[in-house]
Amino acid sequence: MPELPEVESVRQGLEHLVVGKRIKAVNVLWDNIIKDPSVDTFKRQIIGQRIESVGRRGKFLLFELTSDMLISHLRMEGKFKVETSEAPLTKHTHVLFSLDDGTELRYLDVRKFGKMSLTPKLSAFEHPSLRDLGPEPFETSLTDDHLHRFLKKRQRSIKSCLLDQKMVTGIGNIYADEILFRAKVHPERQANTLTPDDIALLKEAIVSIMTQAVASGGTTIRTYANAYGQEGSYQSQLKVYGKTGEPCPNCHTPFVKGKVAQRGTHYCPVCQT
Ligand SMILES: [Zn+2]
Repeated sequence: MPELPEVESVRQGLEHLVVGKRIKAVNVLWDNIIKDPSVDTFKRQIIGQRIESVGRRGKFLLFELTSDMLISHLRMEGKFKVETSEAPLTKHTHVLFSLDDGTELRYLDVRKFGKMSLTPKLSAFEHPSLRDLGPEPFETSLTDDHLHRFLKKRQRSIKSCLLDQKMVTGIGNIYADEILFRAKVHPERQANTLTPDDIALLKEAIVSIMTQAVASGGTTIRTYANAYGQEGSYQSQLKVYGKTGEPCPNCHTPFVKGKVAQRGTHYCPVCQT
């Protein structure tokens, strides 16, 4: 699943390709991609609007239009492409936005799990998809105190809290493992047992890992690529994710993989406590 760095790379690619263009027509080939409003209302409302900017909040892409916000979540395999209207469609193309310069913004999704919502832009951050999201890793509202207040009430694992978009938005399975390895915190550690020192290390790890991953254009595992077909390169910097059996660079103990928060979880059984 694309996490914040991959969605940010998609956003940057799209920004150059679609901003300033007007939506002339829309064709929805798989209705379930449109979460709200109804497909008919979605189509009627979006036609004629201009794409003013492409933003992002956590793992959501935010297309700011003339009066509405198009909120898009790529989920497992969603992708946007900008192509000429003559380019052949693949069977995985589900939504087509015809733009006024003759190109089409196309949404492709092998698994069909992605979702789009259209909502008035002035109240977009009150939409159910966005209203409960916590701070981004790069926002000043992500403080040790914010993490402490969130974690002290939680008896579940710290890994599940890192995946919880209400604590910090944008982190998924790959970066949660990398963050916990850097912070030397065991993924199964009960969240409310983290000390102030642990929390300070965790916050530092969240900011530094996510900053480096964004700078690298994200991680390319399986099929992720941005709208230009460019792939991220952070996979060469991964320390623990996917390294089961390889020696920990700190203590040479082989990394292990277990299941935490229902997700495959990689960690060093010695360094992470
Ligand atoms: Zn180790």
